Amino acid sequence: MTKIRLIRTIPFLSTLIFASAVASGAGAEMPPPLTGGETVQPSIADAQSPLPAGAVHFQGYLGQQLDLCITNRIAAQDVEELLRPFRERKDINEWRSEFWGKWITSAIAAYRYTGDPKLKEIIDRAVNGLLETQTPDGYIGSYPDQGHRKSWDIWGRKYTLLGLLAWYDVTGDKKILEAACRHADFLLSEVGPGKASPFENDRWHGLASSSVLEPMSLLYRHTGRPQYLEFCEYLVHRWPDPQGPDILHKALADVPVFAMFPGPKPVVKNYGDGGESKAYEMMSCFEGLTELYRLTGAPAYREAVGKIHDNIDRSEITITGSGSDWERWCDGRRRQSLPWHTGMETCVTATWIKFSFQLLRLTGDSRYADDIEQAACNALLGAQSLDGTWWAGDTPLAGTKRKASLQCGMNMNCCVANGPRALLLLPQVAVTRDALGPVINLYGQIDAHVELPSGHQLRLEQFSDYPQTGVVRIRLTLDQPESFTLKLRIPAWSEKTRLTINGRTQKVAPGLYAALARSWRPGDEILLTLDLRTRLVAAPGDPTHVAVTRGPIVFARDQRLESGDVDAPVALRADRHGFIAALLETEGKPKEVWLALKVPMADGTATLPMCDFASAGNTWDRKSQYRVWLPLK
Ligand SMILES: [Zn+2]
Repeated sequence: MTKIRLIRTIPFLSTLIFASAVASGAGAEMPPPLTGGETVQPSIADAQSPLPAGAVHFQGYLGQQLDLCITNRIAAQDVEELLRPFRERKDINEWRSEFWGKWITSAIAAYRYTGDPKLKEIIDRAVNGLLETQTPDGYIGSYPDQGHRKSWDIWGRKYTLLGLLAWYDVTGDKKILEAACRHADFLLSEVGPGKASPFENDRWHGLASSSVLEPMSLLYRHTGRPQYLEFCEYLVHRWPDPQGPDILHKALADVPVFAMFPGPKPVVKNYGDGGESKAYEMMSCFEGLTELYRLTGAPAYREAVGKIHDNIDRSEITITGSGSDWERWCDGRRRQSLPWHTGMETCVTATWIKFSFQLLRLTGDSRYADDIEQAACNALLGAQSLDGTWWAGDTPLAGTKRKASLQCGMNMNCCVANGPRALLLLPQVAVTRDALGPVINLYGQIDAHVELPSGHQLRLEQFSDYPQTGVVRIRLTLDQPESFTLKLRIPAWSEKTRLTINGRTQKVAPGLYAALARSWRPGDEILLTLDLRTRLVAAPGDPTHVAVTRGPIVFARDQRLESGDVDAPVALRADRHGFIAALLETEGKPKEVWLALKVPMADGTATLPMCDFASAGNTWDRKSQYRVWLPLK
């Protein structure tokens, strides 16, 4: 086993800048260590770190979407409904025990974003209600004693552990950490060397159960208790077992993700051939492997997480930034212009965003932020209902979007619980910091407070209606002149970018950060203009279909915007550089449409009306039937 440095350090209390009662940073008193362990400093330091809670605030369209989600979905959740499965303990094949953990991690992210005491009250109630269901053996779950480890049991325990650790991060409440330890210890008493296999009874080749790697790695970080790290290493070393998923070797060997688990096609008709390659569960394992890499520094883990992300990007991620057919990988990138009606599960979209953020933090490579923006602006926002109360389970590239169905006899659905987790991650992605200073990853009406390497505070205000226009004005407010490096993400699609500081032009390149190292003064102003020319994009491997994009936004035909058949062929022609002279419409669009575009037809006599993919289909019925890949005449 790789040697781990054990360093006593301040526990991972989040700095709540709106809650001064929480001690943080210099001057914080070090609490006594837990018996049998200490917090652990990871072996591998991240390239980028999120800012403290409350440091970033969105306005504009994205801000409205977050507010709707927090008010109408997260804060409106019936907590008793989520606790019911844990009280009943009668599951056989259900995944009811994932809902509490998924919802509460989104609620905790919402609390970190808003600081709203009402949210804290709801979360406290949900945590205390859950802890009341913990039995003396340590188990917290929805399966009866004889059903332990069956079907989705370990998967659900994973989410419980993630939820408890997330609330411990905010509150520092040792009672919660101890409950999490007892919950984990019970799993260790059942599974491991000389005990049951972690993979038996797992419908998905051990992928669902193996995802417990993520919270188990985090629990080791919080406690330093060696049994948790040993369990993580045990799990990964058992992956090659006949019942196991063997995903470390497959990732290192670059086996395409859709070919990793060949098997009978799903019972429900689908077009892909992903067999048994369950997309979201697989990525959840690699999120865990990223956490384990931070602890151990094992080069194979680093190589595997990088390769699997490339693998998914190359073979599965479609133009709207997500993938999957009937929840499986399906060789989707190459086949995305074909008919495909159960595509882009919202759980896949959310986990792709989370996994990409893991790698952005780890590597500081801006392409992972490009992936997050693409998925967030299209597939993710395209799945939330207009009022924020619910989510679509799939966001196919043509057809209709539909309300995600109720699952397991509950007023809940896997995607409804998962979408908000990714949406509430965006404030953490938007502005981060590295060793040299702040990093801006997302643009819009965004206000951030950043602690500089010197310890001084900087306010970074963005004034922009991006992505309606490509112009972003950034104002820096600081007490005195100071030298540091400010990084701005220049998206790979922005071929012609203009960047000035106080009117003086700076050099930039697409697909990289512009690293602006200088002595900054109070009131300095940056003007960034991104290249929002409209493009015609040919479908991968299919020149008979094109899509229309403008910056990060994918556009679609939508039945509300035209009287003709949205599936009918069109005559569109790009200039020799791939661009087309389209215009955004500000007036006369349906009120549920965010961005409307008029695209000139090749004969010059008419224009094709289109709207952004997030708005397309958002009546969730045939009135707004839509299509992204357009057949060419
Ligand atoms: Zn789902």
